[in-house]
Amino acid sequence: MNKKIYADNAATTKLDLGAFEAMKPYMLDEFGNASQPYSFARQPKKAIQDARESIASCIGASPEEVFFTSGGTESDNWAIKGTVIYNQQKRATITSAFEHHAILRSCESIERQGYPVAYLWPTEEGYITTDILRNCITDKTYLVSVMFANNEIGTVLPIKDLCELAHANGALFHTDAVQAVGHLPIDVHALEVDMLSASAHKFNGPKGVGFLYIKKGIELFPFIDGGAQESKHRAGTENVAGIVGMAAALRENTITLQENFQYVKKLESLLIDQLDDMRIEYKRNGGKDVLPGLVSLSFPGADGEAILHRLDLNGICISTGSACDSKNTEISHVLQAIRLDETYAKGTVRISLGKLNTTDDVIAICSALKRVLHAG
Ligand code: PLP
Repeated sequence: MNKKIYADNAATTKLDLGAFEAMKPYMLDEFGNASQPYSFARQPKKAIQDARESIASCIGASPEEVFFTSGGTESDNWAIKGTVIYNQQKRATITSAFEHHAILRSCESIERQGYPVAYLWPTEEGYITTDILRNCITDKTYLVSVMFANNEIGTVLPIKDLCELAHANGALFHTDAVQAVGHLPIDVHALEVDMLSASAHKFNGPKGVGFLYIKKGIELFPFIDGGAQESKHRAGTENVAGIVGMAAALRENTITLQENFQYVKKLESLLIDQLDDMRIEYKRNGGKDVLPGLVSLSFPGADGEAILHRLDLNGICISTGSACDSKNTEISHVLQAIRLDETYAKGTVRISLGKLNTTDDVIAICSALKRVLHAG
């Protein structure tokens, strides 16, 4: 059996070994509950504070602006639902039609409670431009939430400009940066965003832990009620090992960010060159500003599901779209939002390369793709 090739890094990433080592003490000896007053809680408490400081410094925030959550889904739910409670005049929320379901379903939930939501349609390349937002935003807009980078087609959106426009109209701005944190440079103060969601397992951290950056002064209603953890903003005994692992993984990815970016971009170019050399007919989705390594390809007339399963038989893991929706075999909402023609949409796959992939992986993926596509 050939070596397995994992090329679905937008779905999740392998845990960084240093992060794993950093977590171990908090799962074994230092298992104390960080909220307790006795000395056995001292080290876990310190570890949480160190992690908060480290994460804050990686994204240009202050430590008090970082709130730990159970991952990207919770951070997104909290950002949308936690702001609404302060929006007593029921002013509108604006988001995009191709957000992750963590945002879309949260927006549907607030709509059911009578808060209006408007959905922006991206361009065919996958951009939400300031012109698109300008056509919709008014002084009645309360919150704008637009993702930093799309998880299916990879487009990186002009967040700073969109945020500036939201603020000029008196609205708050949130970004779901789950796909971007740890892969693109992020400075929340330079971006001036009010809230930003992140998830550890997308940047070689552990699963089930993430954070929401909340700019100082922004009022957010607690999403989970209970104890006084996270400055009374997010109840629940802290996932100390997860938080420590997340901080270690983000630190490592931040230190090696440029190097990883260039390396993964090289793999991405190799993949495209190989496909061109093999004269495989395809369309690449997502415009020119895409996440490093995320390659969304549409093969006209092909069946994306069949490609995925045949590559899997060859030991290669890729995706047809968003991993969180793999049971849904309909054309994804993202491909619908960019109005991709059905013959292309049905034949779409997402290859997401990461820092652990090699040129041999890329060559093997391309030759397997060629075989699979020719097998019809
Ligand atoms: N937002 C985006 C853009 C994502 O890609 C994902 C996961 O795929 C999420 C949110 C959900 O994150 P988590 O898996 O940590 O709940």
